[in-house]
Amino acid sequence: MQIDLHTHSTRSDGTATPAELVAQAIEHGLDVVALTDHDTTDGWSEAAEAAGELGITLVRGMEISTTYDGRSVHLLGYLPDPTYPPLADELGRIRSGRDGRLPQMVQRLQAMGIEITEDDVRAAGAEGAVTGRPHVADALVAKGVVVDRDEAFETLLGPGAAAYVPRYATSLLDAIDLVRAAGGVSVVAHPWGRGRVLTPEVLTMLAERGLAGIEVDHQTHTAEQRALLGEIADELGLVATGSSDYHGTGKVDHDLGCNTTDPAQYARLVVAATRARQESGRPAPEVLEVAGP
Ligand code: AMP
Ligand code: ZN
Ligand code: FE
Ligand code: FE
Repeated sequence: MQIDLHTHSTRSDGTATPAELVAQAIEHGLDVVALTDHDTTDGWSEAAEAAGELGITLVRGMEISTTYDGRSVHLLGYLPDPTYPPLADELGRIRSGRDGRLPQMVQRLQAMGIEITEDDVRAAGAEGAVTGRPHVADALVAKGVVVDRDEAFETLLGPGAAAYVPRYATSLLDAIDLVRAAGGVSVVAHPWGRGRVLTPEVLTMLAERGLAGIEVDHQTHTAEQRALLGEIADELGLVATGSSDYHGTGKVDHDLGCNTTDPAQYARLVVAATRARQESGRPAPEVLEVAGP
């Protein structure tokens, strides 16, 4: 059984629509795929429809932009009730923070002599997409200013770079509480991918707070980091996941299924989500189980 629990569609900064993503997941031999767009559940219905038609199990999720100790941490939330008002409101706040900084980023780029407009950036994302730095990067690529997203982040858009503008993100602890109250479960995404904000001590505290899992197998983790994170997950009783963090053509070396989640670990995550849903009393979604073709 091939399980990939972290992917992005055009509803955030991926390049495949939710329906295309589902079709590609089947082509890549996946049996289970989670759609986890940044700070939005907008792609869920299209993905669910495609999963039902094409025959693949869909886990509805999200990747929430959070901060811990002033640093960025991504939190994967699986199967929460997307209509739970405190969660929906908070995701809206994150999205407007991201959108609201766009004029400033464009102004900074213009001040550097780069001819770019807000419309160029919006044109780089799908209609209604969560417009973020990846779309600014795509617009810069389209103009020939940089060759790819990576160069855009390194030279212009990353923290400390000339056009970097910070934005609002939820506190990590609040986000864990919100997902839980909405009947879902949380897994920290690529915790040691860029910097090591979440030390083993912090992970221990998060486990006590209600964190369900750690994304252990991720392209940004070395073999040593994966081994150590796996041990930490084990000791803390957390689920260890593996996933691609697929962004279509928006991120190289993140092909669907390049990392996968062990079926036994996945089963534990589903049990935890079922318990969270019952405890919350929310009508949270279940895993959409559809027999393959
Ligand atoms: P934003 O949400 O606008 O702050 O942009 C953050 C998103 O940009 C992340 O979630 C990644 O998907 C993407 N990203 C961050 N750093 C890089 C990078 N170095 N290269 C390509 N994409 C990146
Ligand atoms: Zn992304
Ligand atoms: Fe991430
Ligand atoms: Fe991601």
